Amino acid sequence: MNIIEKAFLKVIRNKVAKWFNLERSLTSLENVYTSTENSPERSWPNPDRIPSGEEVPFSLKNIPIVGNSLRSAIDDGVKAIKSIQENPKLGRLSIADHELKEFEALARLKGIGAIGYTKLPAHLIFKDRAVLYNTAIVLIMEMDSIAIKNAPSVDTFRMVMSTYDKLGKVTNLLTEKLRKMGYQAQAGHPLGGLVLYPPLAVKAGMGWFGRHGLLITPHFGPRQRIAAIFANIDNLPLSEANEHSWIGKFCDRCGKCIRECPSNAILELPIEHKSGRKTHIIRENCLPLFVKQQGCTICVKECSFTNNSYKDLYERFKAQNK
Ligand code: SF4
Ligand code: SF4
Repeated sequence: MNIIEKAFLKVIRNKVAKWFNLERSLTSLENVYTSTENSPERSWPNPDRIPSGEEVPFSLKNIPIVGNSLRSAIDDGVKAIKSIQENPKLGRLSIADHELKEFEALARLKGIGAIGYTKLPAHLIFKDRAVLYNTAIVLIMEMDSIAIKNAPSVDTFRMVMSTYDKLGKVTNLLTEKLRKMGYQAQAGHPLGGLVLYPPLAVKAGMGWFGRHGLLITPHFGPRQRIAAIFANIDNLPLSEANEHSWIGKFCDRCGKCIRECPSNAILELPIEHKSGRKTHIIRENCLPLFVKQQGCTICVKECSFTNNSYKDLYERFKAQNK
């Protein structure tokens, strides 16, 4: 790396670090929800690793491919935090049916594939992060199926990063919509985020975990990115049930992602933490391939739920378990 390249990476590092420091600053506000001793550390992306050129996606060879999406995602991540100042001082607490329908219609129009509602458990808040309200509106956005089929490729990588960017923008826009309707809300950007999204989406009844640790939904299998809005609204239709737990048993017999992972990064048996949260991937195994191939995504491409419909797999599962 020459001196100009080093200086360039330092500029990126500083931009990301500034964003994450803003996120951390929320912990000093009054009446916010913070992590517990069982909460996860947010290990990715790590600004301090950016100057080495090894932190995906913030490396020199990736900038020509995903630089625009990244710049835009960082700006929107900063906006998500700064815009909490625009919350109404005394927000409305109750949303009418027609207002919720209007909100959901706007979300769909802007590319949101599914919406779930749930209470946020504190153990899903990352260490050193905080959120203002503990009712979560979980948003998922589809990742393009053709680009996934071409994984690993530069096109897949570009699509993944642009989905992060688009979802971040829509999350900010929907948060603004809630504020205009009179509610207090905070956007959670999909890149990194303030909370661990897959278990939050499972708690919202939207899907179940695959053995690759990703959320699997009836809509898109494992092909989605997740974000959330934290809102001070007390009558959202919170999910009380999850009908997708059969996926866990299906996965027990499948194991295709484990066999297809070129880095042996997916654990046969996930590590279970005290809070019940599970770790499915050995990050140190996954990351080098990710760096080398500008994204890997083979576990998404090869997942049985990418290559078959949810309905077909459910019928097959039922037939085998009669
Ligand atoms: S992204 Fe690639 S290396 Fe990482 S877990 Fe998935 S298949 Fe394995
Ligand atoms: S490939 Fe198979 S085991 Fe892995 S997540 Fe998909 S369905 Fe589950």
